[in-house]
Amino acid sequence: MIVGVATESFPGERRVALVPDIVPLLKKRGFEVVVQAGAGQQAGFPDAAYEAKGATVLGTRDEVFAKAEIMAHVRVGGANPDAGQDDLPRYRDGQVVVGAADPFSHPDRIADLAARGVSAFGLELVPRTTRAQAMDILSSMATVAGYRAVLWAADRLPKFFPMFMTAAGTVAPARVFIVGAGVAGLQAIATAKRLGAIVSAYDIRPAVKEEIESLGGKFVEMELEGGEGEGGYAKEMDEEFYRRQREMMLKVVAANDVVITTAAVPGKKAPTLVTAAMVEGMAPGSVIVDLAAERGGNCELTKADEVVVVGGVTILGPTNVPSTLPFHASQMISKNMFNFLCNMLSKPKDRRDRDHVEAFDLEQEDDILEATWMTKGGEVIHPALLDVLATATGGPA
Ligand code: NAD
Repeated sequence: MIVGVATESFPGERRVALVPDIVPLLKKRGFEVVVQAGAGQQAGFPDAAYEAKGATVLGTRDEVFAKAEIMAHVRVGGANPDAGQDDLPRYRDGQVVVGAADPFSHPDRIADLAARGVSAFGLELVPRTTRAQAMDILSSMATVAGYRAVLWAADRLPKFFPMFMTAAGTVAPARVFIVGAGVAGLQAIATAKRLGAIVSAYDIRPAVKEEIESLGGKFVEMELEGGEGEGGYAKEMDEEFYRRQREMMLKVVAANDVVITTAAVPGKKAPTLVTAAMVEGMAPGSVIVDLAAERGGNCELTKADEVVVVGGVTILGPTNVPSTLPFHASQMISKNMFNFLCNMLSKPKDRRDRDHVEAFDLEQEDDILEATWMTKGGEVIHPALLDVLATATGGPA
């Protein structure tokens, strides 16, 4: 099977779906790789590096799409809703398409892919199971975002993060409060700790208390009955819960120099947890980094992709954060993509069967393929997506 990698066309996107180092691993498993000239350039991977690892570099986008049996994208469908439309005529019947597709925000874009006859797989739909962890781009990209958010906060804060005892006096360490201790939040805690800050965190899932403490953070107790929903994700709570949470966070936020918010509820708008009144209570010079900006933001004053300064408090609402660390973000995506593609190869019925010859097999029984498969034979086939599309068009669910 020939895997194609084209230059990402989403505005500002610097990542690439496969890095050169993954090419020999793919070849060993029977794949060939074709890459559009310049596709890895912005992530730090020149064409020569791909060639040195055994990929074929092609001059034009059209050639890559024409040659590839599988197109590997960082962003496709709903994750590249405007510029991605230009590629629609390039897809052909039966081609396999893999990438982050943001299907629930833009189900119409998935329907467009379906109309091209491709078998499209959405990487965000990978289930939260141990086996699927190695293919989970949401986790790998959340790691990048959590790290980056702390560096931005440190850069903006007019204070040191660590404590210093110097001849010029003692410097108190910065206080950092992380809201939401999922993958991004935990990485933010670890990064802020490494920089020497005093770190505390809160999550509505009480199970994360131990994880926060194991990283050297303090779990902020709030007398709230939060909870865990399906697959280890947070449940959506009612407005009364969020009102009480805001009430309890008021003092905590005011006592911190930096607040990093990562609170998300899958498929829903992010809850508003940091209000304008809380921002007012923070000391001038404080910094908020709102990693939920893409989903509406956890802070009332966040403006996506803008720097807002209110009463001396700086609020950052960055989007597409992983693209700001494109080298390692691409390396991580490549590993996720590699594992996902290899999972499309047939598996021996019996693990001890040494004579099994791997073949590309989308029809095998496999929970990961089933969970991520969005379009097939001209139709959208993913049940949850079909529901969303039916609701959008007013038809039967
Ligand atoms: P996420 O991006 O959906 O949300 C970020 C965090 O915000 C979560 O921890 C969530 O509980 C929290 N949150 C939601 N509402 C909140 C509120 N009102 N106040 C405070 N916090 C709030 O979550 P995530 O980073 O994807 O991780 C969720 C869990 O899933 C974690 O325990 C993670 O370790 C686990 N996980 C498992 C797998 C796997 O098993 N394959 C893969 C990835 C993540």
